[in-house]
Amino acid sequence: MNLHEYQGKELLKSFGVEIQEGVVATTVEEAVAAYGQSKTDVCVIKAQIHAGGRGKGGGVKLAKSEAEVREHAGNILGMMLKTPQTPGGLDGPGKLVRKILVAEDAFVAPYENNKEYYVSILMDRGRKQNVIIYSTQGGMDIEKVAEETPHLVHKEYIHPTLGLQNFQLGKIAFNLGLSGAAYKAMRKFINKLYKAFVESDASLFEINPCLHTSDDRIVAVDCKVSIDDNALFRHSNLAELRDTDEEDPTEVEAKSYGLNYVNLDGNVGCMVNGAGLAMATMDIIKLSGGEPANFLDVGGTADAARVEQAFRIILRDPAVKAILINIFGGIVRCDRVAQGVVDAYKNIGDIKVPIIVRLQGTNADIAKTIIDESGLEVHSAILLQEAADLVKKVL
Ligand code: GDP
Ligand code: MN
Repeated sequence: MNLHEYQGKELLKSFGVEIQEGVVATTVEEAVAAYGQSKTDVCVIKAQIHAGGRGKGGGVKLAKSEAEVREHAGNILGMMLKTPQTPGGLDGPGKLVRKILVAEDAFVAPYENNKEYYVSILMDRGRKQNVIIYSTQGGMDIEKVAEETPHLVHKEYIHPTLGLQNFQLGKIAFNLGLSGAAYKAMRKFINKLYKAFVESDASLFEINPCLHTSDDRIVAVDCKVSIDDNALFRHSNLAELRDTDEEDPTEVEAKSYGLNYVNLDGNVGCMVNGAGLAMATMDIIKLSGGEPANFLDVGGTADAARVEQAFRIILRDPAVKAILINIFGGIVRCDRVAQGVVDAYKNIGDIKVPIIVRLQGTNADIAKTIIDESGLEVHSAILLQEAADLVKKVL
């Protein structure tokens, strides 16, 4: 689950990480009021959407007066902000901005002495370790830096049981070229940031820019925070921060039915029980010349009601040219799933795409008979390869 910048900053602040202060606003009047409370004459008006690259898309503006706050807040609130990270990228429709952050200017005089660094923390799954990635080349072009000058991007791996060590804090601050008060501030910053990352079960923290102010403080000016969905049950305060406006509406709906659904770009819809089998099914779709239109795990109890909900969700995607249902009957009996498929098919009516059902496990033979005798345009298969061949045939 992704947090908005303002929510991420609140989280960091609760762990003692120094942040760029700000107030969130949903109207121009609220923005003006926030500017009135600001400790700085210059404020930054920042669009709050779940995507980076806002600055380049016109979603981050400096305002030096109340009139400028009005102007920028008015322009940014309600705009469709396009960045390389919004759906469809710069050619896509962009994302509606519903909230802005009125942030106090974090840069202090002399202006040119403020430096923008990059700091992120994430899990390196290959190495099974958290890693802190950092660079002196922060700001808005970190992707370019990583591509063209990778030696300027440093990585510090964290031992899973020893945790972040003191010498590592020193190494990071040193590699960032810091000394004196800034060196100390950076050690403290990284230490608290890492603690916040671990204790909130985050999967990503990205602080860019991580500002080294000209008076030698280290401040989180932007932050991107993702929390591991599977850990939200033990962070009710974070779970509350979910903003479903920012999520794919179909994925939100699927979640409410207990379906684990992710929309993809392909043409073959799939309905599978179990994440591992779902991955294997997506592979086999690709191998047979199709592209998966979604990832959908209906879970262990693939009962008739769920099968129907899953069907309806898959069919909503106009790109779907065929549906592959791949269920392993372990706890759930295949004949019941088959009956569920047939019932759902009849209930929904009007299904125009061919359906291929592969049921394997308990009562698979009875299930095949139910499908074959249903008289519907549903093809049954027992082997995964047969299912794949059928997909190829119908596409
Ligand atoms: P992003 O483009 O979505 O990553 O948005 P950021 O929050 O990182 O802001 C983009 C850029 O705006 C930063 O890299 C800064 O250069 C600039 N910026 C952000 N906050 C401030 C601020 O308080 N003062 C000044 N002068 N510039 C800022
Ligand atoms: Mn940024």
